[in-house]
Amino acid sequence: MVKTRIASFEGKGKVILKETSIKPAPDQVLVKIQQASICGTDKLFFQGEIPAEIHLPIFPWGHEGGGEVVAVGEKVREYAVGDQVMSFGRGTYADYCLFTVPYGCLSAPLGVPLELTCLGEPLACAVYAAQEITKQIQIGDVVAVIGAGFAGQVLAQGIKRGGASKVIVTDLIDEKLELARQLGADVIINPQTSDLEAVVTNLTDNRGVDLVAEASGSGAGLNTASTILRRNGTIAIYSHYMKPFMVNMYRWHEDAFKIIHTCLMHRTREEMAVGVRDAYRLVQQGLFDITPLLTRSFSLSAISDAFDQEIQDPSREAEQIR
Ligand SMILES: [Zn+2]
Repeated sequence: MVKTRIASFEGKGKVILKETSIKPAPDQVLVKIQQASICGTDKLFFQGEIPAEIHLPIFPWGHEGGGEVVAVGEKVREYAVGDQVMSFGRGTYADYCLFTVPYGCLSAPLGVPLELTCLGEPLACAVYAAQEITKQIQIGDVVAVIGAGFAGQVLAQGIKRGGASKVIVTDLIDEKLELARQLGADVIINPQTSDLEAVVTNLTDNRGVDLVAEASGSGAGLNTASTILRRNGTIAIYSHYMKPFMVNMYRWHEDAFKIIHTCLMHRTREEMAVGVRDAYRLVQQGLFDITPLLTRSFSLSAISDAFDQEIQDPSREAEQIR
């Protein structure tokens, strides 16, 4: 039994820390959380974009993070005290967290700093998506990535490595675009200040891009995708959309777009395990650079500040709560 604070999301702009004591059930491990990151979906919830399907409060809150196993339930054979794990469960905005075995967490890969291990869930999801997307492209393709958040930055790197001749990254925040350029994007465009369609027309000799990866999470992003895609091109959907929105599907039909969904979290357990292992291998090999994406950290007691600052100054990438 350990004492812990666990975050509860109560509604727009309101997160509280509840103090409680927890111990692992027979099929659970107790993990001392090292760091947890703010998922884009959590940020949308905090801003009030809460889907009707979500019942409040969300407790325990937070699903990205990792740490060290400090106790195991009597039926657990997969983990021992001292093992490092990454979260695929819930409750990471906390001092301690319970993960149910086998689905709630996965072993952290050896030789990776715990700081990066704590990004296991978002990293594995984004790298998996990059791999799925590169299966759809040919060497020389021109690809656009909409949204330069954590996922978009990982996607852009993977797509470039996967053979695209040009990777165009769009976002509304110039600092994120600058980071994308440093990490290898060929063209960066802020559609609020430049004419995205004109740039794409120019770059592709009037054809449109071969594939668009949508990682902005907004309806506007998805609608933008169908304005810059070539006939028979592919829209790869990464985002988890929180609100219903109108989609102009005229060209989806007219120009026979192919649509793929690339979210690792909704694949099988086996695919998830393979995806995570592959993601970290590629980071270890230097094919993905995620260290520049870690930009700010806050203590757990300042969790509200972390969300406030993320919203007021969205120029940074991953926010970490320790
Ligand atoms: Zn997430």
